[in-house]
Amino acid sequence: MKTLVLNSGSSSLKYRLFSGETPLADGLAEQIGEPTGHLVYHNLEKKLEHNLTEPLKDHKEALKQVLAFLTDPQLGVLANPEELGAVGHRVVHGGEHFSASALIDDEVLAAIHACVPLAPLHNPANILGIETAKEVFPKAKQIAVFDTAFHQSLPERAYRYALPESHYKDLGIRRYGFHGTSHRYVAQEAARFLGRPLEELKLITLHLGNGSSMAAIKGGRSIDTTMGLTPLEGLVMGTRSGDLDPAIPGFLAQHLSLDAAGVDQVLNKKSGFKGLTGSNDLRTIEAGYQAGGQAERLALELASYRIQKYIGAYLAILGGLDALVFTAGIGEHSALFRKLCVEGLEHLGIELDPQANQHPHQPDLSAQHSKTKILTLPTNEELQIVRECLGVIG
Ligand code: AMP
Repeated sequence: MKTLVLNSGSSSLKYRLFSGETPLADGLAEQIGEPTGHLVYHNLEKKLEHNLTEPLKDHKEALKQVLAFLTDPQLGVLANPEELGAVGHRVVHGGEHFSASALIDDEVLAAIHACVPLAPLHNPANILGIETAKEVFPKAKQIAVFDTAFHQSLPERAYRYALPESHYKDLGIRRYGFHGTSHRYVAQEAARFLGRPLEELKLITLHLGNGSSMAAIKGGRSIDTTMGLTPLEGLVMGTRSGDLDPAIPGFLAQHLSLDAAGVDQVLNKKSGFKGLTGSNDLRTIEAGYQAGGQAERLALELASYRIQKYIGAYLAILGGLDALVFTAGIGEHSALFRKLCVEGLEHLGIELDPQANQHPHQPDLSAQHSKTKILTLPTNEELQIVRECLGVIG
């Protein structure tokens, strides 16, 4: 079966087409609705790339153009649009409605709409992607795969905040967690790599990219995660502060005369690595660190120190640990940051092999006698979305 995975943003559309679990084509439409649009198309089988620079009026026009490439006699991978069995949509927030992926019908779409207040920037763009795909591929099944669903297994003591109960009941304020598709995928990959059933493993997964989060996974179920009501909580990220004294937003509002949107902007866009060093790109920060930069040293120490605190906390609630799994841009590529994250944890049975850590394609980074495995495994959210689609369709 052929499945198209779509990740729809407010002015962008990322796509990858699969046959079964094999990717055939992918690409990205950007600057949709702007005077100049850009569309990239790759035929992965024939290793062909095609670029188009012309205005893309709206998402429908962008997706129709993608379809034109997919069915092009030279560049394409589909004989006709009817060959497409399913479209899998990445949906950021499923609230408490979804603990699994879902076949989209009117009721499911209404529930995704109901989650818009929880993800006002993301869910409307995801809904736009769904509505567009329904028009362009009317025969294909539409499936929603939620970033939050994997974390719906959190126990109440982990997902509730100590706020008045009405704030949970009436406003839905609780920990939801994100990056669920990635955490689930690398947990499965870790089990496969270790040659053990996921059901018997205790794992900590670290999705470290521009956005970062950790999850404590017991027997394949997420039991805690660092992101909360929104993706702002938890780790130090590219431009997000992560954990703070909850009084700080009020303090900022008062002293800098900011409204709620202004405070949000500081914490989401101007903080994290960007706020500490001026750059949100870890490669730039690493270069500064190697050159003896103080701001870069502090940023890497602060970020890895917080990760160590969460490793300690998650080790306690898991009651043991089989593997620590690094993934995403930083987790897969930064040997320096991985080293800082596990340095000094030998007393917990977590010990790195420094040579293996430097090797670009070595999944097992643990010293021979390390009680806990330290792994780096590439994430593949698109492949996980395809697997979810195949699971939903049966
Ligand atoms: P992601 O959001 O998963 O695409 O990850 C983006 C982050 O990964 C950015 O901070 C990049 O600087 C970082 N990154 C990507 N490649 C490397 C690399 N080779 N070394 C260090 N950091 C990297």
